[in-house]
Amino acid sequence: MSGSSVRSDALPDTVPHDAPPGLVVHKFGGTSLENAERIKNVSGLIALGSGHPVVVVSAMAGVTAQLAGLARNDPGEEEVEEALSEIGERHLTAAPLDAVDGASLATRVDEILAGVRVSLARTDFENPMAREDAIIAAGEDLSAELVTRALLADGVDATPLDARRLIRTDERFGSAVPDLEETDRLVRAEALPMIVEGRVPVIQGFIGSTTDERTTTLGRGGSDFTATLVAAPLSADEVVIWTDVSGIHTADPREVEGARAIREMGFEEAVELAYFGAGVVHVSAAKHAVSTNLPLRIRNSGAQEEVGTLVNPNQRGGAEFAAVAFKPAVVLVRVRAFPSAMAHGFLARVFAVLGAHQVPVDLVATSHSSTAFTIDREEDLTAVRDELSRFSEVEIIPDLATITVVGHGLLNEPGMEALAFWAVGKTPVHLISQASDVSLSFVVSEEDAPETVRRLHFSLIELRSDT
Ligand code: ASP
Ligand code: MG
Repeated sequence: MSGSSVRSDALPDTVPHDAPPGLVVHKFGGTSLENAERIKNVSGLIALGSGHPVVVVSAMAGVTAQLAGLARNDPGEEEVEEALSEIGERHLTAAPLDAVDGASLATRVDEILAGVRVSLARTDFENPMAREDAIIAAGEDLSAELVTRALLADGVDATPLDARRLIRTDERFGSAVPDLEETDRLVRAEALPMIVEGRVPVIQGFIGSTTDERTTTLGRGGSDFTATLVAAPLSADEVVIWTDVSGIHTADPREVEGARAIREMGFEEAVELAYFGAGVVHVSAAKHAVSTNLPLRIRNSGAQEEVGTLVNPNQRGGAEFAAVAFKPAVVLVRVRAFPSAMAHGFLARVFAVLGAHQVPVDLVATSHSSTAFTIDREEDLTAVRDELSRFSEVEIIPDLATITVVGHGLLNEPGMEALAFWAVGKTPVHLISQASDVSLSFVVSEEDAPETVRRLHFSLIELRSDT
Protein backbone atom coordinates (compact mmCIF):
# COMPACT_ATOMS: atom_id res chain seq x y z
CA MET A 1 0.00 0.00 0.00
CA SER A 2 2.78 2.42 0.75
CA GLY A 3 4.18 4.83 -1.75
CA SER A 4 0.98 4.97 -3.74
CA SER A 5 -0.33 8.35 -2.67
CA VAL A 6 -2.48 10.27 -5.05
CA ARG A 7 -1.82 13.97 -5.37
CA SER A 8 -4.75 15.66 -3.74
CA ASP A 9 -5.09 18.26 -6.49
CA ALA A 10 -5.68 15.47 -8.98
CA LEU A 11 -8.99 14.64 -7.33
CA PRO A 12 -12.30 16.23 -8.23
CA ASP A 13 -13.84 18.62 -5.71
CA THR A 14 -17.17 16.93 -5.80
CA VAL A 15 -17.77 13.22 -5.76
CA PRO A 16 -20.68 11.60 -7.50
CA HIS A 17 -21.80 9.60 -4.46
CA ASP A 18 -23.76 10.12 -1.31
CA ALA A 19 -22.83 8.12 1.75
CA PRO A 20 -25.10 5.06 1.94
CA PRO A 21 -27.14 4.45 5.08
CA GLY A 22 -25.92 1.79 7.51
CA LEU A 23 -22.31 2.87 7.30
CA VAL A 24 -20.36 1.99 10.44
CA VAL A 25 -16.63 2.48 11.03
CA HIS A 26 -15.13 -0.37 13.06
CA LYS A 27 -11.77 0.29 14.66
CA PHE A 28 -9.80 -2.65 16.03
CA GLY A 29 -7.08 -2.08 18.59
CA GLY A 30 -3.85 -4.04 18.92
CA THR A 31 -5.17 -6.55 21.44
CA SER A 32 -8.14 -7.37 19.18
CA LEU A 33 -5.58 -8.38 16.52
CA GLU A 34 -3.13 -10.09 18.84
CA ASN A 35 -3.13 -13.58 17.30
CA ALA A 36 -4.84 -15.84 14.76
CA GLU A 37 -7.76 -16.53 17.04
CA ARG A 38 -8.50 -12.88 17.77
CA ILE A 39 -8.18 -11.99 14.09
CA LYS A 40 -10.57 -14.77 13.11
CA ASN A 41 -12.96 -13.37 15.66
CA VAL A 42 -12.66 -9.87 14.14
CA SER A 43 -13.22 -11.03 10.56
CA GLY A 44 -16.17 -13.11 11.72
CA LEU A 45 -17.86 -10.18 13.34
CA ILE A 46 -17.51 -8.07 10.19
CA ALA A 47 -18.65 -10.94 7.97
CA LEU A 48 -21.77 -11.52 10.06
CA GLY A 49 -22.63 -7.84 10.41
CA SER A 50 -24.92 -5.89 8.11
CA GLY A 51 -24.79 -2.54 6.34
CA HIS A 52 -21.59 -0.95 5.06
CA PRO A 53 -18.63 -1.59 7.34
CA VAL A 54 -15.39 0.36 7.07
CA VAL A 55 -12.46 -1.15 8.95
CA VAL A 56 -9.66 0.80 10.68
CA VAL A 57 -6.84 -1.19 12.28
CA SER A 58 -4.06 -0.57 14.80
CA ALA A 59 -0.80 -2.47 14.66
CA MET A 60 -0.80 -5.88 16.38
CA ALA A 61 -0.21 -5.39 20.12
CA GLY A 62 3.39 -4.50 20.87
CA VAL A 63 4.54 -4.00 17.28
CA THR A 64 4.61 -0.19 17.34
CA ALA A 65 6.80 -0.26 20.45
CA GLN A 66 9.08 -2.86 18.89
CA LEU A 67 9.55 -0.77 15.74
CA ALA A 68 10.04 2.42 17.76
CA GLY A 69 12.78 0.61 19.65
CA LEU A 70 14.58 -0.10 16.37
CA ALA A 71 14.20 3.52 15.29
CA ARG A 72 15.51 4.94 18.55
CA ASN A 73 18.24 2.54 19.58
CA ASP A 74 19.74 1.85 16.18
CA PRO A 75 20.83 -1.70 16.95
CA GLY A 76 23.26 -3.61 14.73
CA GLU A 77 22.24 -5.36 11.55
CA GLU A 78 21.86 -8.73 13.20
CA GLU A 79 19.48 -7.45 15.82
CA VAL A 80 17.45 -5.58 13.20
CA GLU A 81 17.10 -8.71 11.09
CA GLU A 82 16.09 -10.75 14.09
CA ALA A 83 13.40 -8.25 15.08
CA LEU A 84 12.08 -7.87 11.54
CA SER A 85 11.84 -11.59 10.93
CA GLU A 86 10.08 -12.03 14.24
CA ILE A 87 7.55 -9.34 13.28
CA GLY A 88 7.07 -10.86 9.83
CA GLU A 89 6.66 -14.36 11.24
CA ARG A 90 4.12 -13.15 13.75
CA HIS A 91 1.93 -11.68 11.00
CA LEU A 92 2.18 -14.73 8.78
CA THR A 93 1.37 -17.06 11.67
CA ALA A 94 -1.67 -14.98 12.56
CA ALA A 95 -3.07 -15.23 9.03
CA PRO A 96 -6.02 -17.59 8.64
CA LEU A 97 -5.05 -21.00 7.27
CA ASP A 98 -7.71 -20.75 4.59
CA ALA A 99 -6.37 -17.35 3.44
CA VAL A 100 -7.24 -16.99 -0.22
CA ASP A 101 -3.86 -15.68 -1.20
CA GLY A 102 -1.44 -16.48 1.57
CA ALA A 103 1.45 -16.20 -0.86
CA SER A 104 0.67 -12.61 -1.70
CA LEU A 105 0.47 -11.80 2.01
CA ALA A 106 4.02 -13.10 2.41
CA THR A 107 5.10 -10.88 -0.49
CA ARG A 108 3.46 -7.79 1.00
CA VAL A 109 4.94 -8.49 4.44
CA ASP A 110 8.39 -8.76 2.83
CA GLU A 111 7.87 -5.50 0.96
CA ILE A 112 6.78 -3.62 4.06
CA LEU A 113 9.70 -4.96 6.10
CA ALA A 114 12.09 -4.09 3.28
CA GLY A 115 10.71 -0.53 3.53
CA VAL A 116 11.58 -0.51 7.24
CA ARG A 117 15.12 -1.62 6.42
CA VAL A 118 15.46 1.22 3.92
CA SER A 119 14.16 3.83 6.39
CA LEU A 120 16.52 2.56 9.09
CA ALA A 121 19.46 2.97 6.72
CA ARG A 122 18.45 6.35 5.30
CA THR A 123 20.36 9.35 6.62
CA ASP A 124 18.45 12.14 4.87
CA PHE A 125 15.38 12.49 7.10
CA GLU A 126 14.70 16.06 8.19
CA ASN A 127 14.51 15.04 11.83
CA PRO A 128 14.50 11.90 14.01
CA MET A 129 10.72 11.96 14.38
CA ALA A 130 10.20 11.92 10.61
CA ARG A 131 12.41 8.85 10.49
CA GLU A 132 10.60 7.21 13.37
CA ASP A 133 7.20 7.82 11.75
CA ALA A 134 8.36 6.22 8.50
CA ILE A 135 9.47 3.18 10.49
CA ILE A 136 6.64 2.68 12.98
CA ALA A 137 3.94 3.12 10.32
CA ALA A 138 4.89 -0.38 9.16
CA GLY A 139 2.99 -1.81 12.14
CA GLU A 140 -0.32 -0.56 10.77
CA ASP A 141 0.70 -1.35 7.16
CA LEU A 142 1.24 -4.97 8.18
CA SER A 143 -1.93 -5.39 10.20
CA ALA A 144 -4.06 -3.85 7.42
CA GLU A 145 -2.70 -6.42 4.95
CA LEU A 146 -3.28 -9.21 7.42
CA VAL A 147 -6.83 -8.19 8.32
CA THR A 148 -7.69 -7.78 4.63
CA ARG A 149 -6.65 -11.41 4.03
CA ALA A 150 -8.64 -12.59 7.05
CA LEU A 151 -11.74 -10.78 5.78
CA LEU A 152 -11.33 -12.20 2.28
CA ALA A 153 -11.08 -15.67 3.78
CA ASP A 154 -14.45 -15.05 5.45
CA GLY A 155 -16.04 -13.98 2.18
CA VAL A 156 -15.89 -10.22 2.77
CA ASP A 157 -14.96 -8.14 -0.28
CA ALA A 158 -12.16 -6.30 1.57
CA THR A 159 -9.53 -4.01 0.01
CA PRO A 160 -6.66 -2.20 1.71
CA LEU A 161 -7.03 1.57 1.37
CA ASP A 162 -3.84 3.43 2.24
CA ALA A 163 -4.41 5.97 5.02
CA ARG A 164 -1.69 8.11 3.42
CA ARG A 165 -4.18 8.83 0.66
CA LEU A 166 -6.84 9.92 3.15
CA ILE A 167 -5.38 11.53 6.25
CA ARG A 168 -3.58 14.70 5.19
CA THR A 169 -1.52 16.23 8.01
CA ASP A 170 0.96 18.95 8.80
CA GLU A 171 4.64 18.16 9.39
CA ARG A 172 4.62 17.71 13.14
CA PHE A 173 6.02 14.20 12.88
CA GLY A 174 5.13 12.04 15.86
CA SER A 175 1.94 13.97 16.61
CA ALA A 176 0.81 15.36 13.30
CA VAL A 177 -2.32 17.50 13.11
CA PRO A 178 -4.77 16.62 10.34
CA ASP A 179 -6.01 19.16 7.82
CA LEU A 180 -9.68 18.42 8.37
CA GLU A 181 -11.03 19.99 5.21
CA GLU A 182 -8.59 18.20 2.96
CA THR A 183 -8.97 14.93 4.85
CA ASP A 184 -12.76 15.11 4.51
CA ARG A 185 -12.44 15.64 0.79
CA LEU A 186 -9.94 12.83 0.32
CA VAL A 187 -11.95 10.36 2.39
CA ARG A 188 -15.07 11.06 0.38
CA ALA A 189 -13.25 10.89 -2.94
CA GLU A 190 -11.28 7.72 -2.17
CA ALA A 191 -13.48 5.67 0.12
CA LEU A 192 -17.04 6.42 -0.96
CA PRO A 193 -16.88 4.89 -4.47
CA MET A 194 -15.55 1.64 -2.97
CA ILE A 195 -18.18 1.56 -0.27
CA VAL A 196 -21.00 2.26 -2.69
CA GLU A 197 -19.83 -0.72 -4.75
CA GLY A 198 -20.21 -2.89 -1.65
CA ARG A 199 -16.51 -3.27 -0.94
CA VAL A 200 -15.03 -2.97 2.56
CA PRO A 201 -12.04 -0.63 2.87
CA VAL A 202 -9.39 -1.67 5.38
CA ILE A 203 -7.53 1.45 6.50
CA GLN A 204 -4.42 1.74 8.69
CA GLY A 205 -5.11 3.73 11.84
CA PHE A 206 -2.56 6.12 13.32
CA ILE A 207 -0.83 7.15 10.08
CA GLY A 208 -1.21 9.88 7.52
CA SER A 209 0.94 11.87 5.16
CA THR A 210 2.04 15.40 4.38
CA THR A 211 1.09 17.04 1.08
CA ASP A 212 4.41 15.88 -0.34
CA GLU A 213 3.72 12.27 0.66
CA ARG A 214 5.96 11.88 3.67
CA THR A 215 4.51 9.49 6.25
CA THR A 216 3.34 11.01 9.55
CA THR A 217 1.69 9.59 12.67
CA LEU A 218 -1.05 11.08 14.83
CA GLY A 219 0.52 10.24 18.20
CA ARG A 220 0.45 7.01 20.19
CA GLY A 221 -3.01 5.52 20.38
CA GLY A 222 -3.99 7.60 17.35
CA SER A 223 -5.92 4.88 15.53
CA ASP A 224 -9.08 5.89 17.39
CA PHE A 225 -8.63 9.37 15.95
CA THR A 226 -8.29 7.92 12.44
CA ALA A 227 -11.60 6.13 12.90
CA THR A 228 -13.40 9.40 13.68
CA LEU A 229 -11.55 11.25 10.89
CA VAL A 230 -12.78 8.66 8.41
CA ALA A 231 -16.30 8.39 9.84
CA ALA A 232 -17.21 12.09 9.89
CA PRO A 233 -17.03 12.83 6.13
CA LEU A 234 -18.80 9.54 5.39
CA SER A 235 -21.68 10.56 7.70
CA ALA A 236 -21.26 7.21 9.46
CA ASP A 237 -24.08 6.06 11.73
CA GLU A 238 -21.48 5.41 14.38
CA VAL A 239 -17.88 4.51 15.16
CA VAL A 240 -17.29 1.31 17.08
CA ILE A 241 -14.01 1.21 18.99
CA TRP A 242 -13.37 -2.52 19.49
CA THR A 243 -11.01 -3.07 22.39
CA ASP A 244 -10.32 -5.55 25.19
CA VAL A 245 -12.58 -4.03 27.84
CA SER A 246 -16.36 -3.95 27.76
CA GLY A 247 -16.73 -0.19 27.50
CA ILE A 248 -15.94 2.85 29.59
CA HIS A 249 -16.16 1.96 33.27
CA THR A 250 -17.29 3.94 36.29
CA ALA A 251 -13.70 3.50 37.57
CA ASP A 252 -10.70 1.35 36.71
CA PRO A 253 -11.97 -2.20 37.38
CA ARG A 254 -8.45 -3.26 38.39
CA GLU A 255 -8.50 -0.71 41.22
CA VAL A 256 -12.13 -0.52 42.23
CA GLU A 257 -14.11 -3.66 42.89
CA GLY A 258 -17.55 -2.16 42.31
CA ALA A 259 -16.64 -0.60 38.96
CA ARG A 260 -18.97 -1.45 36.09
CA ALA A 261 -19.37 -0.55 32.42
CA ILE A 262 -21.41 2.57 31.66
CA ARG A 263 -24.14 1.90 29.09
CA GLU A 264 -24.53 5.40 27.82
CA MET A 265 -22.85 8.70 28.50
CA GLY A 266 -22.71 12.24 27.17
CA PHE A 267 -19.98 13.55 24.90
CA GLU A 268 -18.56 16.12 27.25
CA GLU A 269 -18.26 13.57 30.02
CA ALA A 270 -16.43 11.22 27.65
CA VAL A 271 -13.94 13.91 26.65
CA GLU A 272 -13.27 14.77 30.30
CA LEU A 273 -12.80 11.08 31.07
CA ALA A 274 -10.50 10.50 28.12
CA TYR A 275 -8.45 13.47 29.23
CA PHE A 276 -8.34 12.70 32.93
CA GLY A 277 -7.11 9.18 32.77
CA ALA A 278 -9.71 6.66 31.67
CA GLY A 279 -7.58 5.61 28.71
CA VAL A 280 -10.26 3.78 26.75
CA VAL A 281 -10.67 6.30 23.93
CA HIS A 282 -8.01 8.66 22.59
CA VAL A 283 -8.75 12.27 23.56
CA SER A 284 -8.52 13.58 19.99
CA ALA A 285 -11.00 10.94 18.87
CA ALA A 286 -13.46 11.87 21.61
CA LYS A 287 -13.10 15.55 20.74
CA HIS A 288 -13.51 14.99 17.03
CA ALA A 289 -16.58 12.87 17.65
CA VAL A 290 -18.06 15.70 19.73
CA SER A 291 -17.40 18.34 17.12
CA THR A 292 -18.80 16.24 14.28
CA ASN A 293 -21.76 14.85 16.24
CA LEU A 294 -20.66 11.27 15.74
CA PRO A 295 -21.91 8.57 18.12
CA LEU A 296 -19.07 6.45 19.50
CA ARG A 297 -19.52 2.94 20.82
CA ILE A 298 -16.84 1.19 22.83
CA ARG A 299 -17.08 -2.61 22.75
CA ASN A 300 -15.10 -5.69 23.67
CA SER A 301 -14.16 -7.80 20.64
CA GLY A 302 -13.61 -10.72 23.02
CA ALA A 303 -17.08 -10.39 24.56
CA GLN A 304 -19.43 -9.44 21.76
CA GLU A 305 -22.50 -10.31 23.80
CA GLU A 306 -21.85 -7.22 25.89
CA VAL A 307 -23.29 -3.93 24.64
CA GLY A 308 -20.38 -1.76 25.77
CA THR A 309 -20.69 2.01 26.13
CA LEU A 310 -22.46 4.37 23.78
CA VAL A 311 -21.14 7.92 23.82
CA ASN A 312 -24.19 9.75 22.64
CA PRO A 313 -24.53 13.24 21.21
CA ASN A 314 -27.90 13.57 22.92
CA GLN A 315 -27.05 14.42 26.48
CA ARG A 316 -29.66 13.37 29.00
CA GLY A 317 -31.12 15.71 31.61
CA GLY A 318 -30.86 15.47 35.38
CA ALA A 319 -27.77 15.38 37.52
CA GLU A 320 -25.68 12.28 37.87
CA PHE A 321 -22.16 11.14 38.64
CA ALA A 322 -20.95 8.82 35.90
CA ALA A 323 -17.36 7.86 36.63
CA VAL A 324 -14.23 8.51 38.66
CA ALA A 325 -10.95 8.76 36.76
CA PHE A 326 -7.44 8.89 38.06
CA LYS A 327 -4.31 10.37 36.53
CA PRO A 328 -0.98 9.77 38.30
CA ALA A 329 2.39 11.48 37.77
CA VAL A 330 1.09 14.99 38.26
CA VAL A 331 3.12 17.94 39.54
CA LEU A 332 1.60 20.99 41.22
CA VAL A 333 3.21 24.38 40.79
CA ARG A 334 2.24 27.09 43.26
CA VAL A 335 3.17 30.63 42.36
CA ARG A 336 2.81 33.56 44.80
CA ALA A 337 3.38 37.13 43.67
CA PHE A 338 6.12 38.92 45.63
CA PRO A 339 4.40 41.38 48.00
CA SER A 340 6.17 44.18 46.16
CA ALA A 341 4.73 43.07 42.80
CA MET A 342 1.52 44.60 41.52
CA ALA A 343 -1.35 42.18 41.90
CA HIS A 344 -2.96 43.21 38.64
CA GLY A 345 -1.54 41.52 35.60
CA PHE A 346 -0.02 38.79 37.76
CA LEU A 347 -1.96 35.91 36.24
CA ALA A 348 -1.35 37.18 32.73
CA ARG A 349 2.38 37.27 33.45
CA VAL A 350 2.39 33.75 34.82
CA PHE A 351 0.53 32.38 31.83
CA ALA A 352 2.68 34.32 29.41
CA VAL A 353 5.70 32.48 30.81
CA LEU A 354 3.95 29.10 30.50
CA GLY A 355 2.82 29.94 27.00
CA ALA A 356 6.28 31.01 25.91
CA HIS A 357 7.70 27.67 27.08
CA GLN A 358 4.74 25.70 25.69
CA VAL A 359 4.02 24.03 28.99
CA PRO A 360 0.53 22.50 28.85
CA VAL A 361 -1.44 23.18 32.02
CA ASP A 362 -4.23 20.87 33.20
CA LEU A 363 -5.97 22.32 36.23
CA VAL A 364 -5.77 25.84 37.60
CA ALA A 365 -6.91 27.57 40.77
CA THR A 366 -6.17 31.17 41.66
CA SER A 367 -6.62 33.86 44.26
CA HIS A 368 -5.74 37.53 43.79
CA SER A 369 -2.01 37.17 44.28
CA SER A 370 -1.30 33.49 43.91
CA THR A 371 -2.07 30.73 41.51
CA ALA A 372 -1.59 26.98 41.46
CA PHE A 373 -1.69 24.70 38.46
CA THR A 374 -0.94 21.09 37.55
CA ILE A 375 1.20 19.70 34.77
CA ASP A 376 2.50 16.29 33.75
CA ARG A 377 5.61 15.04 35.49
CA GLU A 378 7.49 14.71 32.18
CA GLU A 379 7.56 18.45 31.54
CA ASP A 380 10.91 20.12 32.13
CA LEU A 381 10.29 23.05 34.45
CA THR A 382 13.75 24.50 34.91
CA ALA A 383 13.38 27.46 32.56
CA VAL A 384 9.81 28.18 33.65
CA ARG A 385 10.82 28.16 37.29
CA ASP A 386 13.68 30.58 36.67
CA GLU A 387 11.50 33.04 34.85
CA LEU A 388 8.63 32.90 37.33
CA SER A 389 11.09 33.38 40.19
CA ARG A 390 11.84 36.87 38.92
CA PHE A 391 8.51 38.15 40.14
CA SER A 392 7.16 35.44 42.42
CA GLU A 393 7.84 32.71 44.89
CA VAL A 394 7.60 29.30 43.20
CA GLU A 395 6.91 26.02 44.94
CA ILE A 396 6.85 22.71 43.08
CA ILE A 397 5.09 19.74 44.65
CA PRO A 398 5.76 16.38 42.93
CA ASP A 399 4.18 12.91 43.20
CA LEU A 400 0.57 13.94 43.04
CA ALA A 401 -2.47 12.55 41.26
CA THR A 402 -5.55 14.13 39.78
CA ILE A 403 -8.84 12.47 40.61
CA THR A 404 -11.70 13.60 38.42
CA VAL A 405 -15.34 12.92 39.06
CA VAL A 406 -17.21 13.11 35.78
CA GLY A 407 -20.93 13.42 35.38
CA HIS A 408 -23.53 15.84 34.14
CA GLY A 409 -25.64 18.55 35.70
CA LEU A 410 -23.15 18.82 38.55
CA LEU A 411 -23.81 22.54 38.93
CA ASN A 412 -27.56 22.32 38.48
CA GLU A 413 -28.40 20.20 41.44
CA PRO A 414 -27.58 21.62 44.86
CA GLY A 415 -25.51 19.33 46.98
CA MET A 416 -23.74 17.38 44.23
CA GLU A 417 -20.38 18.91 45.09
CA ALA A 418 -21.05 18.61 48.80
CA LEU A 419 -21.42 14.86 48.33
CA ALA A 420 -18.05 14.69 46.61
CA PHE A 421 -16.34 16.81 49.28
CA TRP A 422 -17.84 14.63 51.95
CA ALA A 423 -16.52 11.50 50.24
CA VAL A 424 -13.00 12.92 50.00
CA GLY A 425 -13.18 13.25 53.77
CA LYS A 426 -9.94 13.98 55.59
CA THR A 427 -7.60 13.30 52.68
CA PRO A 428 -5.38 16.37 52.21
CA VAL A 429 -6.35 18.06 48.95
CA HIS A 430 -3.80 20.28 47.18
CA LEU A 431 -6.13 21.82 44.63
CA ILE A 432 -9.81 21.67 43.72
CA SER A 433 -11.05 22.64 40.31
CA GLN A 434 -14.43 22.77 38.66
CA ALA A 435 -14.74 24.64 35.40
CA SER A 436 -17.96 23.16 34.07
CA ASP A 437 -20.89 21.04 35.14
CA VAL A 438 -19.39 17.82 33.80
CA SER A 439 -16.36 17.41 36.00
CA LEU A 440 -14.88 18.13 39.38
CA SER A 441 -11.19 17.47 40.06
CA PHE A 442 -9.16 17.00 43.22
CA VAL A 443 -5.38 16.90 43.40
CA VAL A 444 -4.13 14.59 46.14
CA SER A 445 -0.89 12.76 46.85
CA GLU A 446 -0.23 9.77 44.63
CA GLU A 447 -0.23 7.66 47.77
CA ASP A 448 -3.72 8.74 48.86
CA ALA A 449 -5.19 8.46 45.37
CA PRO A 450 -6.34 4.81 45.14
CA GLU A 451 -8.21 4.96 48.43
CA THR A 452 -9.76 8.33 47.53
CA VAL A 453 -10.92 6.94 44.17
CA ARG A 454 -12.56 4.00 45.96
CA ARG A 455 -14.30 6.28 48.44
CA LEU A 456 -15.60 8.60 45.75
CA HIS A 457 -16.73 5.70 43.62
CA PHE A 458 -18.49 4.07 46.52
CA SER A 459 -20.41 7.09 47.72
CA LEU A 460 -21.10 8.84 44.42
CA ILE A 461 -21.76 5.88 42.16
CA GLU A 462 -22.27 2.56 43.94
CA LEU A 463 -24.53 3.93 46.71
CA ARG A 464 -26.50 6.23 44.43
CA SER A 465 -27.17 3.67 41.70
CA ASP A 466 -28.95 1.42 44.23
CA THR A 467 -31.66 3.98 44.77
N1 ASP B 1 -0.21 1.38 16.95
C1 ASP B 1 -0.25 2.71 17.48
C2 ASP B 1 0.16 2.70 18.92
O1 ASP B 1 0.51 1.67 19.45
C3 ASP B 1 -1.57 3.38 17.29
C4 ASP B 1 -2.73 2.76 18.02
O2 ASP B 1 -2.61 1.64 18.51
O3 ASP B 1 -3.79 3.38 18.09
O4 ASP B 1 0.19 3.73 19.53
MG1 MG C 1 -5.85 2.51 21.86
